[in-house]
Amino acid sequence: MSDKPRSPIESGCPDAFQYMHPVMRKNYGAWKYHEHPKPGVLRHVGYSGDEIWTVRVGTQRILDIFTLRKLCDIGDEFADGYIHFTIRSNVEYMVADEAKVEPLIKAIEDAGFIVGGTKNSVTMISHTQGWLHCDIPGTDASGVVKSMMDELIDEFRENNMPNRVHITTSCCQINCGGQGDIAINVQHTKPPKINHDLVSNVCERPSVVARCPVAAIRPAMVNGKASLEVDEKKCICCGACFPPCPPMQINDAEHTKLAIWVGGNHSNARGKPTFQKLVAAGIPNNPPRWPEANAIVKGILKAYKEGAKDWERINDWIERIGWPRFFEVTNLPFTKYHVDTWRGARNSLNASTHIRF
Ligand code: SF4
Ligand code: SF4
Repeated sequence: MSDKPRSPIESGCPDAFQYMHPVMRKNYGAWKYHEHPKPGVLRHVGYSGDEIWTVRVGTQRILDIFTLRKLCDIGDEFADGYIHFTIRSNVEYMVADEAKVEPLIKAIEDAGFIVGGTKNSVTMISHTQGWLHCDIPGTDASGVVKSMMDELIDEFRENNMPNRVHITTSCCQINCGGQGDIAINVQHTKPPKINHDLVSNVCERPSVVARCPVAAIRPAMVNGKASLEVDEKKCICCGACFPPCPPMQINDAEHTKLAIWVGGNHSNARGKPTFQKLVAAGIPNNPPRWPEANAIVKGILKAYKEGAKDWERINDWIERIGWPRFFEVTNLPFTKYHVDTWRGARNSLNASTHIRF
């Protein structure tokens, strides 16, 4: 890399080619095939005859500057000076010489990281950084992820799953997260509690009112001060009012729970996209190790591992065996709350600020 700082770019990320391993750059779009010599290692062969080995690495997910430097040092010393991060935050090193693969793996493991996450494994769990960068979190998604990855470390290292498994977490109920085979999402269970003394100083009331998807917030005068009120019958406890108005506190140690959804998948050459479905709700948000959520995820993975055919993703497996059987084999209780019949949809959707019919 050059010593000179790059000139600022107004939008988007910098051109990725400048950071690519030269063999990747040379063979871009011209790979003949790839194979998987062992868990965590890929070998790509180009039409040019060039070969490149990729070693995939799992980390603790939230990386401090010292850990990043350590990872970069490994790249400089053992991996031709290149490092990159995948969309699920796995670290990948590339080497153009097979003889460098084992020394690289040794250096990675000696430094305390793990190699794996390729093919039919549980790859790094993706999450949003919650308390590190965002103003809405109802929980610390990073903590859920760390505790879960500790429990699933062998599933990262080995290729024991019928197909790859993507797990995601989200730290609020409305925005990121949810693009996985299994998603662990926040679930608020009661309306926000308003600190009226602060609202008039902190919140821009029209933007808070506009933010509510079901028009449950109204301006109100409370104790002679301009404030807000919530129609709790309409409120769906989504948490959207909390970011523009922190005095509308919705996070709660007891009433903010976790919910688990399964079966989400993008479309591919063989199938349509599938939506996730709720399988467990009201799970205690229980730091620092979240044992209840972990037990449910491990139970789902065990049933999937035992019951799915090779190459079935979680959604394919459930589609084949059916939802009643899924609840049987995972020992999750099935209740009437799992079924959305859309009864009452006319009333609830008409309460929305966006839909009228
Ligand atoms: S999931 Fe919600 S709280 Fe977490 S980073 Fe995304 S928007 Fe913020
Ligand atoms: S934005 Fe969401 S949590 Fe806030 S009042 Fe409206 S429905 Fe309830």
